Amino acid sequence: MTNRIVLSPMFGELIITALCGVSNMIFLDPPPCPICHNASRKTLVDHDTLKRRFATVIIGGEKIRLTVSVKRYICKQCGHVVSARSPFYPNTRLGSPVVDLAISLASRYSFYQTSQIMEMLNISISRSAIRTLAQNREWNITTVPLSGLLLPASLLSLGTLMNTSHGRLTHEDVLIACGFSTE
Ligand SMILES: [Zn+2]
Repeated sequence: MTNRIVLSPMFGELIITALCGVSNMIFLDPPPCPICHNASRKTLVDHDTLKRRFATVIIGGEKIRLTVSVKRYICKQCGHVVSARSPFYPNTRLGSPVVDLAISLASRYSFYQTSQIMEMLNISISRSAIRTLAQNREWNITTVPLSGLLLPASLLSLGTLMNTSHGRLTHEDVLIACGFSTE
């Protein structure tokens, strides 16, 4: 029952800090081409930059959409579009730490309760979005038990990173905190 869960406001603040810190970042660094494995930066040509929704957070009762930009390239060897490394899982529409949180909570709570708890943690997400994520999950999430909840390590690392980086945050720092490879 969500009304029996008492969450420290500290978690909500940590989550806002973590997600807002990533907002407006531009991810530029391409991985090797996933199709032909071409790793030479010279054979990737600039294509476009996508603005992607990272999270919708609730600040002072208002829903605020946080976005990041992800540059895309075209592989000259095979013609495939290669997206820069960014904190998103394939075929998802929200930043990976938000996906991690939704899936961690949905492993224990109903989709409705998960959406309520996420709202208490200042994140707006629909039940249907949670259901889709929970049903299609294809990745492993490291969780940490805190105050009776299972919270994803990614979100906690990201919050800690924001609190200690003093504005000198690199893309690599964010990707590593979110559990992605940078090599
Ligand atoms: Zn290629």
